[in-house]
Amino acid sequence: MDPDIEKVIKAADPYRLTGTRYLHGTDHFDNTGVHNPTGAVVYPISLATTFRQKSPGVPTNVNDPNSFGVGYEYSRTGNPTRGEFERAMASAESARYCCAFASGSSAVTSVIHLLESGSNVLCIDDVYGGTQRYFRKIVSPSMNIHFSFVDFDNIDEIREKMKGSYKNTKLIWLESPTNPTLKLSDIRQIANLAHDNGAILAVDNTFCSPYFQSPLELGADIVVHSVTKYINGHSDVVSGVVCTNSLNLSDRLRFIQNGMGAVPSPFDCFLAHRGLKTLHIRMEASSRNAYAIALFLEKHEGVNKVLYPGLPSHPQHELAKRQQHGYGSMITFYCKGSRKQAAIFLEQLKVFSLAESLGAVESLAESPSLMTHASVPEEERKKLGIDDSLIRLSVGIESCSDLIKDIDNALKAAIESV
Ligand SMILES: *Cc1c(COP(=O)(O)O)cnc(C)c1O
Repeated sequence: MDPDIEKVIKAADPYRLTGTRYLHGTDHFDNTGVHNPTGAVVYPISLATTFRQKSPGVPTNVNDPNSFGVGYEYSRTGNPTRGEFERAMASAESARYCCAFASGSSAVTSVIHLLESGSNVLCIDDVYGGTQRYFRKIVSPSMNIHFSFVDFDNIDEIREKMKGSYKNTKLIWLESPTNPTLKLSDIRQIANLAHDNGAILAVDNTFCSPYFQSPLELGADIVVHSVTKYINGHSDVVSGVVCTNSLNLSDRLRFIQNGMGAVPSPFDCFLAHRGLKTLHIRMEASSRNAYAIALFLEKHEGVNKVLYPGLPSHPQHELAKRQQHGYGSMITFYCKGSRKQAAIFLEQLKVFSLAESLGAVESLAESPSLMTHASVPEEERKKLGIDDSLIRLSVGIESCSDLIKDIDNALKAAIESV
């Protein structure tokens, strides 16, 4: 091929070639197949709750790949639109299997239901606030499952303790980077630690999305996503998924999915699947914006400290380079002053919305100590460095210069009040 044309083709592709996979899935994907007989290029929303049987106990259409070989009977158990999304998500995460749930939180719940009574779970100490609340306040008091919240920086110490006080650990629960302090953990090292001790590793990959991190390739057994965030990406669906390469885990998760019934609606699956198709484009655009904003914040007189894995000042920048395919679009920073200045900053923003959640096309800003992490005990927050001057940004895909102007104006207003 003409080398000039080759150059243009190369420039048309982003850094990771995931676009075809996100749009069409991998090998098993075939939109001309029996499961989509009209040839519609967008898979239909199937609202039926029940499916006609030819003979008692003989399900419909066992050949439909979206039914995973068991056909359709009842929509909680199996739904064509959900199956289509699950297969697309499995492809996106380079997993063999995926189960979709009604929320990221119910995806977390389903993983905990894999455990037997008496199990111990090692969980990263600054795990997502809602996950922490579920572990501490719902599972711990009633299910005879014990949680130890640890910092995986001290891996040798944890390895020692797994012979003693952490002995019956069956599951290690990790987020990397964490929320909101963007602390990284070495996934490969912790997967080895888990496997050496008869445990499995689950990674909540919400912050990176499948585009920027592949935990299964690093040795994790389970990947969880809040689809509500980057995968759907448009602030209009609450949903979650669990992905794995293990047939055994997948069979058990599917049993739990049906038995507990926390399934997403067909319409939510349709929207989330539509979101997935532009994941690569959105992640590229928002992380480019975030990198520029992080550099800008680091030099701003109204800022004490910026946490962003893409900055050389981030203590785990090298790990981020090695482990992630990119740095993502979450930024956390400490503004000068305290609660009052943080509040002024957040109130003055005009392009960023002052709102919880993250991972959407719109830029969002929030105060973890007053909003997303208010349910984390204050003492715990202090230990994790979540004080009232901490601000979390979820950078979207607006024009970068507008976002920077917005931040600059709001920061100036905040400094004036110091
Ligand atoms: C939002 C979030 C969850 C919970 O997901 P929902 O869809 O809100 O139930 C879990 N983990 C992380 C990292 C999240 O950001």
